[in-house]
Amino acid sequence: MTSSPGCSRTRPLRLQQVQRWDIETDVVVIGFGAAGACAAIEAARAGAKVTLFEVAAGSGGTSALSGGEIYFGGNGGTPIQRTAGFSDDTEDLFKYLMLAGGPNADEAKVRLYADNSLRHFDWLVGQGVQYKNSFIPQRIVEPTTDDCLIWSGSEEAWPFVEQARPCPRGHTPQFMGMGGGRYLMDVLTQRVHDAGVDVRCNARALALIADEYNAVHGVVVRIDGSERCVRARRGVVLCAGGFVMNREMVKRHAPHLLRSQHPIGAVDDGSGILLGQSVGGATINMSEGFVTLPWYPPESLIKGIFVNEQGQRFINEDCYHGRVSQHILQQRGNRIFLLVDGASYGEPEFGKFANIEIGGTGETWEEVEKELDLPEGTLTATVALYNRYAAQGRDPLFRKAAKWLSPLVQPPFVALDCRIDHCFYASFTLGGLDTLPTGEVLNADREPIAGLYAAGRTACGLPRWGAGYSSGMSLGDATFFGRQAGSSVAARSSG
Ligand SMILES: Cc1cc2nc3c(=O)[nH]c(=O)nc-3n(C[C@H](O)[C@H](O)[C@H](O)COP(=O)(O)OP(=O)(O)OC[C@H]3O[C@@H](n4cnc5c(N)ncnc54)[C@H](O)[C@@H]3O)c2cc1C
Repeated sequence: MTSSPGCSRTRPLRLQQVQRWDIETDVVVIGFGAAGACAAIEAARAGAKVTLFEVAAGSGGTSALSGGEIYFGGNGGTPIQRTAGFSDDTEDLFKYLMLAGGPNADEAKVRLYADNSLRHFDWLVGQGVQYKNSFIPQRIVEPTTDDCLIWSGSEEAWPFVEQARPCPRGHTPQFMGMGGGRYLMDVLTQRVHDAGVDVRCNARALALIADEYNAVHGVVVRIDGSERCVRARRGVVLCAGGFVMNREMVKRHAPHLLRSQHPIGAVDDGSGILLGQSVGGATINMSEGFVTLPWYPPESLIKGIFVNEQGQRFINEDCYHGRVSQHILQQRGNRIFLLVDGASYGEPEFGKFANIEIGGTGETWEEVEKELDLPEGTLTATVALYNRYAAQGRDPLFRKAAKWLSPLVQPPFVALDCRIDHCFYASFTLGGLDTLPTGEVLNADREPIAGLYAAGRTACGLPRWGAGYSSGMSLGDATFFGRQAGSSVAARSSG
């Protein structure tokens, strides 16, 4: 057992304090989710001796809880996109991802991903991940079958549709039902073992080991109750997930996410980010997060309109459910309603699970307004204005596409209750360590920290703006930039 006095995830162990190396390797990967698995595979295949530490009893992390959906496209399209009749231009993927990344989108990462997304698809298929050649044209959250391609973002909605030619890009692996993330992780886990990676589970990374210049030389790990000093000759890759489960960190950096009472993730306690910060790693976009209420399908509900407790609309409802929910969270007040008429109503598929209930009904919108106890004339004025323009196939206020516009005139009228503190608004964080596309972690001066890499939600990657998030962006980022980090660290000369 090695003594490592005073060190923690916020305070590195200094190199001169290391009494002996308990384990020596070329590359240490921390975390066995999608990012860690891909980093380990690439580093090992490049010839590095790789040791992977995972705090849980096995692989998976949040990646295994996920739908396994990945955002692919460009270069003419994946075979599935092409079979479905879509030709996806790389520049359209690039423009979409830039817009989806928000005001601080990382152009270098977006460019690399857009140019190589198709090759990355082929790489995953090469690892054994199977995709059925099928497309579901209806707007859904995630296939409940083993089908593949869906519209998983806001591609057809304003303002995205004005910037980039729309194309469906959400690819879910061939796995029956929801939860393809476990399948994805099982395939990647097998490849990690095949590549000869030394996997140590039930092993928590406690602190980095760094010299006086903050160059990283290893990591302190607790295995079976004992602290071990692990030397990483070429570097350490942090792939320990985000911080949504660390409510103190959420409070400090992304307090608006506290309105979502359903943080989703496995560990996500921020330890990867804190470890990076302990040696001067800078963080960016820490206030950003993904939040969603799965309010559709059925897609007919998209013909409804959302109003806040002032009875006002605030978004074009044909956006991705996450973008709509992001705007919901920004509303003053807790009460949110989705207004639908007899023609557009359908029972929300995830209604029971998401606690979406009927909040009011009526034969007229006046009755609904009264039942909801909204200020007289507010909801009715909103509906009247919407209906007037919808009848002309227009939405001058929020630019909802004509396809989803039809006046809400057929009784009975229904207000679905989407209260923020009552319904299942799920969230996870998007901010993290500032990294180069190589995975190198940057300090506040944007200089790389020697020997330190990060990927997945420990880093701030492609998805970095809640209002632009699209399903598949996080795993696309984690797998692709996990690979980048693995290749880069393996190519580094021994420290
Ligand atoms: C229900 C759900 C559905 C989702 N669906 C999708 C989807 O379809 N598509 C998509 O793109 N995204 C989806 N996401 C988001 C996506 O799953 C995650 O953002 C992504 O998996 C993050 O991958 P990661 O490798 O960074 O982290 P993780 O997969 O969480 O891996 C991190 C690993 O690090 C380990 N770890 C943490 N701290 C330490 C430590 N100190 N020492 C050692 N090990 C440590 C953890 O145990 C974990 O195994 C979904 C999320 C949820 C919750």
